[in-house]
Amino acid sequence: MAVVFWNKKIQGASAEELRKLQLRLLKRQVKRVYENSAFYRRKFKEAGVRPSQIKSLEDVAKLPFTSREELEANFHEVLAVPMSNVATIRMTSGTTGRPLRIAHTKHDVEMVAEASARKLTYHGVRKEDIVQVTASYGLWQGAWSVHWGAEKIGACIIPIGPGDTERQILMIKQLGTTVLYAVTNYHFRILEVAKALGEKLRNYNLRIGICVAEKPSKEQISMLEKGFGYEKVAIDYGATEFPGFSVHCEEERDFHHVWADYYLVEVVDPETRELLGEGERGELVITSLQREAFPLIRYLSRDITDYVGFKKCACGMSHPKVGVDIDRTDFMAKIRGVIVYPGHVEAILSGFPELTGRCQIIVDKRTPKQEATLKVEMSKVPSEVVQKSVKEKLIEEVKNRVGVTFNEVIFVPNGSFEGKFRKTIVIT
Ligand SMILES: [Zn+2]
Repeated sequence: MAVVFWNKKIQGASAEELRKLQLRLLKRQVKRVYENSAFYRRKFKEAGVRPSQIKSLEDVAKLPFTSREELEANFHEVLAVPMSNVATIRMTSGTTGRPLRIAHTKHDVEMVAEASARKLTYHGVRKEDIVQVTASYGLWQGAWSVHWGAEKIGACIIPIGPGDTERQILMIKQLGTTVLYAVTNYHFRILEVAKALGEKLRNYNLRIGICVAEKPSKEQISMLEKGFGYEKVAIDYGATEFPGFSVHCEEERDFHHVWADYYLVEVVDPETRELLGEGERGELVITSLQREAFPLIRYLSRDITDYVGFKKCACGMSHPKVGVDIDRTDFMAKIRGVIVYPGHVEAILSGFPELTGRCQIIVDKRTPKQEATLKVEMSKVPSEVVQKSVKEKLIEEVKNRVGVTFNEVIFVPNGSFEGKFRKTIVIT
């Protein structure tokens, strides 16, 4: 299926055009933020930087970083519009005991709707579709973004929210749902309940599944395609702090395209904050280019991913790409001085058909050489000879590509790493 653009002008723009647009938007945004947000004005002054110093996109690096804790502590000071212009507020659990609150003007909401309309159209969702949204509404952003986008393209929305799985299945059957938006694990829960009820969901009208929160493994994607009868499974990425962020590329399935007119992204070393270049993996730093109420300036997202940058993609878009293998900075492990991200190891595991792609890294800092163990999950139990050869190849490949030698590889049965589990365990 050829990709269809909702907004041909922006989605079809060349890398050069997008970078030019970004610079214009960045200059305007930095000026606006400096003039209207007490928080950012203070930070810019402390860093000794003025909006007039932003002359190129690279100059963004002159601006100070913003942490999540700062946003949690300074809601009213961050606001760059009067409270009377705030149309809605979203909230997510905080890291400092205070919730993180994000405000949007009417125009901010419109931008999220536009980004979401682009995304849904790109994945093949049309006006004729029936979109069942099983993500949480309330103060969390997830369901709202897809809701606003589906509304914009004129699709029919079933805003059912999470839970009551039997009722979800009834809706799929009775209303002829064609697009299901759900947390990855919830997709599997629906399949399980349908199985118990003797329902074959693939016999109904579902054609597109959108997975949110956890990235499904390749094996899980094929299970979803079979179980629901999906023609396509897309992965959604974004957060309450940066809604309407990206779209999962149709051609290069390992990447998301970041909407360049809304967000400027950089990657930095999560420890030193040193700026990294294209093709490198690091912490995603996000600057919102048009947001009015609650702007992000060099926001440290805590998400670790690969950054590809601007390049014309086979799907027709030149918006910069970031990897779908996303780790949290909270989960990274340092083994003998080298930072290791579970996602990086998982990308290597996906090349082994004997493995599911899920793993757990265990570092024992008590041992003098910081013994590192890699636990990998097997698709099915291979013979001992195969296990030995997989183990050797795996250790070698991780050594070459990540720069770390694991002392031990332990095979665990399929299902050991289902649901929530710690990807990294550091024993100190
Ligand atoms: Zn693409």
